Amino acid sequence: MSEVEAPDADSFAALGLGAALTKTLSQLGYEEPTPIQKAAIVPLIAGRDILAQAATGTGKTAAFALPILERLAGTFRGKRTVALVLVPTRELAMQVAESVHRYGKSSGVQVLPIYGGQSMEPQLRALQRGVHVVVATPGRALDHLRRKTLDLQHVQMVVLDEADEMLDMGFAEDLEAILAGVPADRQTALFSATMPPRIASIAEANLKDPVRVAIAKVTMSGEVPLVRQVAYVTPRSQKLTVLERVLDMEAPTSALVFCRMRTDVDELTERLTAHGHRAEAIHGGLSQQQRDRVMKKFKEGSVELLIATDVAARGLDIKDLSHVINVDLPAAPEAYIHRIGRTGRAGKSGVAISLVEPREIRLVKVLQRLTKQRIEEGKVPTIADLRVRRLDLLRERVGEMLSEEDSLDRYRVLLDAFAETHTAQDIAAAALKLADTALNGGTAREPAAPARGPAPAAAKREPQSPREREPEAERALPAERGDHALRTAARGKPAREDVAATMAKLYLAVGRGIGVSAAEIVATIGQAVDRKAIGNIAIHDRHTVVEVPEEAVETILRALKKMQIKGESVRARRFRD
Ligand code: AMP
Repeated sequence: MSEVEAPDADSFAALGLGAALTKTLSQLGYEEPTPIQKAAIVPLIAGRDILAQAATGTGKTAAFALPILERLAGTFRGKRTVALVLVPTRELAMQVAESVHRYGKSSGVQVLPIYGGQSMEPQLRALQRGVHVVVATPGRALDHLRRKTLDLQHVQMVVLDEADEMLDMGFAEDLEAILAGVPADRQTALFSATMPPRIASIAEANLKDPVRVAIAKVTMSGEVPLVRQVAYVTPRSQKLTVLERVLDMEAPTSALVFCRMRTDVDELTERLTAHGHRAEAIHGGLSQQQRDRVMKKFKEGSVELLIATDVAARGLDIKDLSHVINVDLPAAPEAYIHRIGRTGRAGKSGVAISLVEPREIRLVKVLQRLTKQRIEEGKVPTIADLRVRRLDLLRERVGEMLSEEDSLDRYRVLLDAFAETHTAQDIAAAALKLADTALNGGTAREPAAPARGPAPAAAKREPQSPREREPEAERALPAERGDHALRTAARGKPAREDVAATMAKLYLAVGRGIGVSAAEIVATIGQAVDRKAIGNIAIHDRHTVVEVPEEAVETILRALKKMQIKGESVRARRFRD
């Protein structure tokens, strides 16, 4: 018998997921299961009912979607509906359906979100064609059941997702009616962020001897690090823009920037580098040698942003960072504390910044309770704030320079030449402008040789690659946020997403297949529009979807007609999803 390597106890394979799913997850950039996944997947695959307490952001969707895909894979050749997921809102229906589709892309699974507010016609046509997994809001599911357009007779698994929200929205009776129409021998999983008595009674009536999964209450061991914690509430599509503004404002000298997925780490690093930041990626996909090289650069200070997943950062001996930045919140509160504990140096408090999607506000509240420290709601810096900050930094640097008078001697000779035609103030203002542009990359060249270069502090911060900053007014966020979502957003309901409202998507018929990178896309589209205004870029095998400001769509499409990427002309059009 050949020896089979035992899967890593923390891996998806160890939870009983097959090769196809584990491969997909690895391609998606998931490095290890989250705590709720570790607790729920095994019993679900074994066919048990579960009652799980988990909020959005913990990875709960995959916790039920993966077992559905694993357990029911054999039925995906037929046309019957074998799994039903009930969710409170249309947004969640779409998100869950998309996740099931993404995880199950190699299985042939057909998934359909059905929700109120959309005309019945397309839903009816899809249901007639045959759908294996239906993700529905209770009201619309019941409509279809009454019209006999949804057949639940063959359903083997039912998931109630965000059950407390469904009850809050008055769906209790609808739920009962739907569950009464599903075969009694089905498997049922109930996920809820809170466990009020009403949830317990639904569970009592509808679950059979459920495994209870509560992510153990985290207790703080030792002291909570002294860290200023700030959360910026932002839709996912605006994360990069907000991140760049915050980076400009905070000017971190050494920051660890966390993403959840390996693929996001790569994409963010590419985008930040394309925008002139000194960033390097570190994740499980790198060889030891590559990691060592990155760490050396970071420790020397020639890289100021290290973009990482939790798994990759775990093995790294880095502390005393000026900033920890959570582009994505971690799925487990322990990981949050571990992350923010890396900042703060000798007696000084560090800064932990989190970009939080409106739907994750609850998770922030959990973290606040846990750390017993306030998490401030940050206001995304405005253009005016950045301008003031930039002048502050300039003042600081010039001050440092003035304290090293000797090194200025060689420039004094120039003063005499200018003094005949200009005042000292004018000369100084011109020199300041020059310094400002260079420090911010506008005309930055390779860093000057140390002997002739600027003072070390300034040299260290000078970008390596041209940071082609456009005048700041041109890279405004589509809309400035003035709201305070953390304080005011209703529980779990999406907060205003108007920041994203003026972005449009473009479809480009070039993709990973010909080796296109995000940097190339930015470089190409950046010829027609301010690079900083370019939003998310999703590169697929044969196409790429790029977010750009709505008002720039026509200009970009016209410009793309004359451009090439990798020697190929680019077919492009507006993308509607
Ligand atoms: P959810 O709590 O289901 O809304 O998931 C929150 C986010 O975590 C989603 O963007 C998922 O894609 C992501 N996610 C779920 N599981 C993992 C994992 N094991 N590793 C990394 N990211 C994950």
